[in-house]
Amino acid sequence: MTTPRLEVDLDKIEANTRHLVEQLDPRGIRVTGVTKAALGSPGVGAAMMRGGASGLADSRIENLARLAEGTPEAASRTLIRSPMLSQVERVVRSATTSLNTGLTVLDALDLAARNQRRTHHVILMVELGDLREGVSPAAVVELARETRGRRRLRLSGIGTNLACQSGVVPDDANMGELSRLVEKVESSTGQRLTVVSGGNSANLPWALSGSDPGRINDLRLGEAILLGTEPLERSVLPGLHADAFQLVAEVIEVGVKQAGPRGSLGQTAYGELVPIVGTASRRGTFRQVILALGRQDVLLDGLVAPAGMEILGMSSDHLVLDQGDHRLEPGDEVRFAVGYGGLVQAIASPFVTVEETRRETWSG
Ligand SMILES: *Cc1c(COP(=O)(O)O)cnc(C)c1O
Repeated sequence: MTTPRLEVDLDKIEANTRHLVEQLDPRGIRVTGVTKAALGSPGVGAAMMRGGASGLADSRIENLARLAEGTPEAASRTLIRSPMLSQVERVVRSATTSLNTGLTVLDALDLAARNQRRTHHVILMVELGDLREGVSPAAVVELARETRGRRRLRLSGIGTNLACQSGVVPDDANMGELSRLVEKVESSTGQRLTVVSGGNSANLPWALSGSDPGRINDLRLGEAILLGTEPLERSVLPGLHADAFQLVAEVIEVGVKQAGPRGSLGQTAYGELVPIVGTASRRGTFRQVILALGRQDVLLDGLVAPAGMEILGMSSDHLVLDQGDHRLEPGDEVRFAVGYGGLVQAIASPFVTVEETRRETWSG
């Protein structure tokens, strides 16, 4: 099998989705499965739908087009980044819904929907402190009225996004504010909002804490489903698999090397001050392994080596390991856990093969 290779266990993604759906359903919260860290893989999207997601979402129109082709069972496909003005025709074609923050884009979406004889659903984003996308709470009622005035647009609801730009924690205060805004929008438009999208995986500690969910009835979940973690502290949530993705790389050299570098020292390939992490405290020699894996494949950040091995450094094409008591040979494969950043980079690298696997299941 080719390496480097990203192995994707679709059963674990399905199980993670199901676990979250079962936890959130009694609280009246649906799960929208976010596929962006898996590049809109239809296999991943289908696993989320089998696990009970109410729809799928992605930040890129290319990924939503893949999902439209490959995962037709998804009732909704939501673009979760404000549409580019230059892409509105594609947005209306491949997304049922988009998150929006301004009238210029809404007008263009309305026109595109008219051209394509479709209707397009809109969720208006409100900025509640994280300082990324969204209009101010004071402006959302007016934008909701304007949206309702566009013939080919349907106002589905409002939403917010926290914990991304500034790390603002979702809590009773900001979620309560969103619920109160729902009531304001409803009373001034006379329309009941069907979607109140409270946020991303960072909302889970709040949503599962027993707090009153108020009017929040949807979360857009990517990281928790894919990696089992919540983004505030990157802890693994109880009941979730953290190893649905594994990066496999191949050994190309094994040798006994000096514990410290020899010669006078300048910058390393990537300008770090310390050439090899941890060498300062090493004495004598160590059992070094070089893998055919580098920064053109994955970020070092979040890469976790098997127990007993230590990652010492990575340049563009070489990953250097201390193999400890292991006995690796050239040609052997080593498996790594990846973090969110590593996953996003590995899956987008042209050098990494993605291999999705699913257990044979009863179909009758
Ligand atoms: C990426 C993203 C999500 C999903 O975030 P996770 O932390 O992966 O759950 C939700 N909403 C928006 C707007 C996003 O950009």
